[in-house]
Amino acid sequence: MQNLKRNFSIIAHIDHGKSTIADRLLEMTGTVTEREMKEQLLDSMDLEREKGITIKAQAVTLNYTAADGNKYELNLIDTPGHVDFIYEVSRSLAACDGALLVVDAAQGIEAQTLANVYLALEHDLEILPVINKIDLPSADPEKVKLEIEDIIGLPTDNAVLVSGKTGLGIDELLEAIVKYIPEPKGGMSSPLKALIFDSHYDDFRGVITYVRVIDGVIKKGDKIKIMSTNKEFEVLETGIFSPKMTEKNELSVGSVGYIITGVKSIKDTQVGDTITHVKNPAEKPLEGYRPAQSMVFAGIYPISTDDYEDLREALEKLQLNDASLTYVPETSIALGFGFRCGFLGLLHMEIIVERLRREFDIDLISTAPSVEYHVTTETGEHLIIDNPAEFPAGKKSIEEPYIKGTIIVPRDYVGNVMELCQEKRGTYIDMSYLDETRTMLRYDLPLADVVIDFYDKLKSRTRGYASFEYEMIGYKESDLVKVDILVSGNVVDAFSFIAHKDHAFNRGRSIVERLKEVIPRQQFEIPLQAALGSKIIARETIRALRKNVLAKCYGGDISRKKKLLEKQKEGKKRMKAIGNVEIPQEAFLSVLKLN
Ligand code: GDP
Ligand code: MG
Repeated sequence: MQNLKRNFSIIAHIDHGKSTIADRLLEMTGTVTEREMKEQLLDSMDLEREKGITIKAQAVTLNYTAADGNKYELNLIDTPGHVDFIYEVSRSLAACDGALLVVDAAQGIEAQTLANVYLALEHDLEILPVINKIDLPSADPEKVKLEIEDIIGLPTDNAVLVSGKTGLGIDELLEAIVKYIPEPKGGMSSPLKALIFDSHYDDFRGVITYVRVIDGVIKKGDKIKIMSTNKEFEVLETGIFSPKMTEKNELSVGSVGYIITGVKSIKDTQVGDTITHVKNPAEKPLEGYRPAQSMVFAGIYPISTDDYEDLREALEKLQLNDASLTYVPETSIALGFGFRCGFLGLLHMEIIVERLRREFDIDLISTAPSVEYHVTTETGEHLIIDNPAEFPAGKKSIEEPYIKGTIIVPRDYVGNVMELCQEKRGTYIDMSYLDETRTMLRYDLPLADVVIDFYDKLKSRTRGYASFEYEMIGYKESDLVKVDILVSGNVVDAFSFIAHKDHAFNRGRSIVERLKEVIPRQQFEIPLQAALGSKIIARETIRALRKNVLAKCYGGDISRKKKLLEKQKEGKKRMKAIGNVEIPQEAFLSVLKLN
């Protein structure tokens, strides 16, 4: 029997039009009415809309009656485009049989296009090239087709030309999806195998597990088990996303939808696991995929110690929907009680910190981001550390993580990019020409230097034209030291950092210079120092203040004085006292932003 389902993802470089095309597909299939059609419906989180990126993958089922008269069920699984979220891309691809490769007709292939294609190929997906933005005067679809053939090696005879903006070509795209995306292969009467590709926590209904059924049928009342843990559950509801959750009697081979089991923690339904029936179980689970790995670590502290419990609860809630966020309690002499958190990358970290502020209304300080180091101590002990505070005094060797970075850039900026990669301790690998104007460079780079501000610098030094993508390649030995920052002779552990020996002096100096600007003058002199062990490598002094705030308003204007005092109190709330010095929140932030 013919299977009328088609499961696919859209992969693209950021801004090439993935979300816009998804919106048009939803609209043209009548999945949402015009009234419901908000632009970029699939990007539901506020923050996603603001930052213009898709963070969590989402699934939606479209009903489409094709030219052959058949009613098809098209399951579109949206994926994020940013490098930080490559793990989420990987897991949504695992639920698909094919992928639409969207390339901007005016821009051509970019670094993320390549990275996403390689991921899709790893998952054995059929790739259908879609050339978008053909309405633009600068569009050159023929050139982009050649690029796809030359650089990726993908034939483009079946490429579809569209404009997500005007809707041109979207009907042909729907026909092409039916024709070129392979139908699901599983057996209806085989033992159940369903892949968990995502999950989210709902306050009322508990964990909603997103599944793709590979073999068999699953319905309400079924007794199921998770194959890796053998934990058993009863299915309370099955359904699809259209795009709202809509109950359905059953999900069968090729279905993409959700199941509710009353599970209270997403830890019980790990993404990548296989679900099967308790009776007549499948023999072997589906192949899992690359698990998410924290790459960037930072301490997160509430400004007010009263918020500690709230912060813990907020992190717990965020983790329910974002298994890639990790946290453990930690204490800092400077900042008190907080949490050491692990993130996929710097953008991920920014998003989490912003969500804690906005959705949970907690004022926070985060320490400078760090990576995970492998240390061998003098006694031969092996340590893994992600926090400068744990840096051992005596060590034999230390290794740091390296990535292989691919950068695609117009030829004019090659010099700037090489310079930046050198500053970031990169090792040149090779360079190739994509066409007359664009060059692809490859460098091995230490992750620690990439996470701080590599991407921002790359963008500014290439006027936004460069695209960048990276993959982990492993650990390499490096000459690394720990630098401490002292305020009035006290080490502020939150400012400590690990750096390459050659960078320690410059970074230490710029931190004390910056602190001098942002720490307000106080009644006494404040020395600021950067120290490498017991050696002071940089020093600045904040001179003592003479006048106090009230000195300015002579006369008896009581209410004005009150206001000033109130204001001062407000300001204090955002300060952390280190010894007898009050350090404003900005100081922590500016050190964090420093390169
Ligand atoms: P995504 O990052 O891949 O999801 O890209 P978006 O769908 O958010 O699109 C990025 C930008 O390109 C938005 O400003 C869109 O309005 C614009 N855009 C998308 N498709 C088209 C198109 O076909 N033509 C034109 N001119 N602009 C488009
Ligand atoms: Mg998008």
